[in-house]
Amino acid sequence: MNICMVGTGYVGLVAGTCLADFGMNVTCVDIDKEKIDRLNRGEVPIYEIGLSELIARNVKLERLRFSTGLAEAVDRSLVVFLAVGTPEGEGGRPDLRALYEVARQVGACMTEYKVIAIKSTVPVGTSREIRRIVRQSLKTPIDFDIVSNPEFLREGAAINDFLRPDRIILGSDSERALAIMRDLYRPLYLLKKPIVSTSNETAELIKYAANTMLALRISYINEIANLCDLVGADVYDVAVALGMDKRIGPKFLHPGPGFGGSCFPKDVKALAHLAQEHDYEFRIVDAVVAVNAHQREVILNKSRQTLGGFQGKTVTILGLSFKPDTDDTRESPAIHMAQALLREGAAVQAYDPAAMNEAKRVLPQIKCDNNPYSACENSDLVMIVTEWNEFRDLDLARVRTLVRTPNLYDTRNLYEPSQVRALGFNYLCTGRSAVK
Ligand code: NAD
Repeated sequence: MNICMVGTGYVGLVAGTCLADFGMNVTCVDIDKEKIDRLNRGEVPIYEIGLSELIARNVKLERLRFSTGLAEAVDRSLVVFLAVGTPEGEGGRPDLRALYEVARQVGACMTEYKVIAIKSTVPVGTSREIRRIVRQSLKTPIDFDIVSNPEFLREGAAINDFLRPDRIILGSDSERALAIMRDLYRPLYLLKKPIVSTSNETAELIKYAANTMLALRISYINEIANLCDLVGADVYDVAVALGMDKRIGPKFLHPGPGFGGSCFPKDVKALAHLAQEHDYEFRIVDAVVAVNAHQREVILNKSRQTLGGFQGKTVTILGLSFKPDTDDTRESPAIHMAQALLREGAAVQAYDPAAMNEAKRVLPQIKCDNNPYSACENSDLVMIVTEWNEFRDLDLARVRTLVRTPNLYDTRNLYEPSQVRALGFNYLCTGRSAVK
């Protein structure tokens, strides 16, 4: 099958590459010429484990190509995926301009039947609007179908998630399109991955409902952690015990500085906005947004109190990406912390295994070091903000000799409090401050 993937970002590049690996002929299209040129030179613009090898293999086998030429790629393909960004717009409403522009362009160059599959995360009703835009842009009347096919991959585990999804959602009222999409996903179906066929509107809502549910769990455990600090309980044991309950399960119950990334923050706000548009006050979603913003303040307040203000102090941030195993710093809690620290007069030193270039683009004032130890030199407070594996077993005795003032804020609870305190640190954490 010939596939066109419009938008070659985290989702489009991974999805396009994995489909090529199933043996399909995939053209990944983007308006960013520099990105396409880099990919054609064999450079991979994002950090994602295993991706460069997979791209190289499929390019070599001539099943995967990169182009800025949309018309040619559409012409060659039966399925056209739309995977462009849908960032947060005004008032939490997703900004769909890029997506609508692509729909116009795809409609304008279609000469025969296509399935247009929306992979981008979009509000309910978007598939209807895309159908209207494509129809309006057609040069001659041509049959086409729209399938809502939201993506659930996680950065840092994207290839595995795409190849082994918990489920595949296909929203469409066309049996013809559903049959084509089932055929496309057949390699996954052979791995017994269930396909949920539903309406476009339901498929669109499922994505927001899923992401908000996960964000809600993070906010919930963060509130429990804050309460643990007040009542002298240990959030680690609370979370473990909660997770043992089969009705609850252990995932997304790790307290920390709140969720970030390019999806959860904007998707939660988009769901709140959708509810507002329908005059529905979605209280729990509003609370998730507020709790998440508050969690960052909780950490900044404790840090401020510890240092007696940030002015003139040096703070080290370990981990800049919004989560481990990615270089994505969009809405990263670490970036938020660094901005607040700089605003209040601190000098910020940082280290991240993959995201320093990305971070420097938004925050050129931070001093990035090429290893975690030099980033700790003369620091008044070391904050572990992202739980990269390499921060789980730091030589803290060495860190203790490098810092100016021994304050360690382990926002992700990677260490045992007693061991860190035994090294002479003032140890701060999330929901475990009473643990001896
Ligand atoms: P991204 O910003 O990494 O990539 C989007 C790409 O689209 C960019 O390369 C951009 O240049 C390109 N683009 C923009 N306008 C274009 C146009 N007119 N023609 C061609 N290309 C164009 O975004 P992403 O993280 O891959 O997310 C894409 C969508 O998938 C979003 O809706 C997002 O919410 C959703 N999603 C993302 C993830 C994730 O983990 N990143 C997971 C699931 C779903």
